[in-house]
Amino acid sequence: MSTGPDSKGLAVGIDLGTSNSVVAVVRDGEPVVLADAQGNRTQPSVVAYGYGNASVVGHRARQQLTYAPENTVFSVKRLIGRRYGSEEVERMRRMVAWGITEGPHGDARVRVQGKVYAVPEVSARVLAHMKAIAEAATGEPVTGAVITVPAYFNDQQRQATRDAATIAGLECLRIINEPTAAALAYGYGREQRQHIAVYDLGGGTFDMTILRMEPGVYEVLSTAGDTFLGGDDFDDAIATWLRQVVEQQHDVDLSDNHAARTKLRDAAERAKVALSGLPAVEVRVPNLARDRSGKGISVHTRLDRSQALKLVMPLIQRTFVVVDDAMSQAGLSTAQIDAVLLVGGMTRFPPVREAVGKYFGQEPVGSINPDEVVAVGAALQAHTLTQGFDPEAAVLLDVTPQTLGVGTVGGFVEPLIPRNTAIPTDASKIFHTAHDNQTEVRILVYQGESRMQADNELLGHFVLDGLRPAPRGEVRIRVTFSIDADGIVHASAVDEETGRAQEITIEASSGLTQEEVQEMRFDDLGF
Ligand code: AMP
Repeated sequence: MSTGPDSKGLAVGIDLGTSNSVVAVVRDGEPVVLADAQGNRTQPSVVAYGYGNASVVGHRARQQLTYAPENTVFSVKRLIGRRYGSEEVERMRRMVAWGITEGPHGDARVRVQGKVYAVPEVSARVLAHMKAIAEAATGEPVTGAVITVPAYFNDQQRQATRDAATIAGLECLRIINEPTAAALAYGYGREQRQHIAVYDLGGGTFDMTILRMEPGVYEVLSTAGDTFLGGDDFDDAIATWLRQVVEQQHDVDLSDNHAARTKLRDAAERAKVALSGLPAVEVRVPNLARDRSGKGISVHTRLDRSQALKLVMPLIQRTFVVVDDAMSQAGLSTAQIDAVLLVGGMTRFPPVREAVGKYFGQEPVGSINPDEVVAVGAALQAHTLTQGFDPEAAVLLDVTPQTLGVGTVGGFVEPLIPRNTAIPTDASKIFHTAHDNQTEVRILVYQGESRMQADNELLGHFVLDGLRPAPRGEVRIRVTFSIDADGIVHASAVDEETGRAQEITIEASSGLTQEEVQEMRFDDLGF
């Protein structure tokens, strides 16, 4: 399948969000967001299982979240590319009513009704839904997509997102960063030189990106982020407060009651969204649970903005630690920022907008739609990539968000490509044998900012074998790591003496093999 300039299929831009997803396309030179038959321009990234082999995605799936929480998989982007044993997976497990189990490669997998799904398989359901919406809206087959990810996503999370596209029967033309996509959309039709700050607070992740925009060129100067800070945490904070109120009033313990906790989270999210427009809200949850005597418990309480602000302030403050980091990495002061873009549903929350405005000493740009801007930028990039060479097309110069390094003795990591290096890029390192007649070396690849292996993400390892038996230190192998335009890591090796090149595949420490991805493809199953 090809989606080059000659191919027949349409190439779209998809914002595959934690909470919601959006699909857009460029038609007659203009980017447009595509709506479903009911006119919805955003789709919940929710997949409901429980229909035999079939699943329901989007708004219909979201509706069943409260009455069939154990079958309704949401926020799966928080699990994508994650190892089963990671702290993030543990936190997610406490939030959801469906199961999370360990996959054969140490990856986290979703278990619903006794069936286990790889996370990219679940994300692929969402992508296939967006593809179907785009096909219905345009009347054309959709074959390719530019898909956006949080700037701070590591190699495994990007790779898993690409796998999801393949499973959904889509050619992933490029993975681009959400803030970069937002800047592309903002800059479309603007010919100024500007420094842009993109504050992106979505359902599950936070990213801060600083870019320099010049006519035709978008250069990312720095990016920083937290892949576990987003709207879900705001909901959690409010839901925890609600639970405490109920537990005190009715002398019950709801900590193990998943159904009740799902209802409270749902109520918390609705209250949070309502507080964006109102100073105070009534929170009502009928039939939440039963008390010790078997009597039904309902919630009826009031939450005002200042109370809510107290609950979520620590989360808002955490975003500015990341903002400070991105600003200092870019070497800019707030006075040098010409435009502040707000992206992600959480930036509709007034306290977030106010805090950002105060920090930068200017009002954020009001003309962009925080829910749609990322998909629009992705569509513009999809258009550029499928139109062949276009001298008018914008050039994207992005950076790698996390340092890439190699494990060394003593549990340390030696950095090879520092964070915020422009991509694509590569770096080499010479490895020596450590023992006489050693015929293989094992190389561990890490991503992260710590000098200690234990605090970084192990991307994987590879073994160089077939080395010439020789006294230790005599065999020299040059290993080259490269990061492609999608932010995905590759490695190659060459024996310095013989010039013999080695094929290297990084064995991912989690995720799927390419064979598994092919087996999971929906089009092979006649989806
Ligand atoms: P995204 O991942 O960008 O779709 O962002 C989704 C997050 O934004 C969820 O946590 C939503 O609850 C939150 N959100 C969406 N709209 C609003 C709103 N009007 N006020 C507050 N939060 C919102």
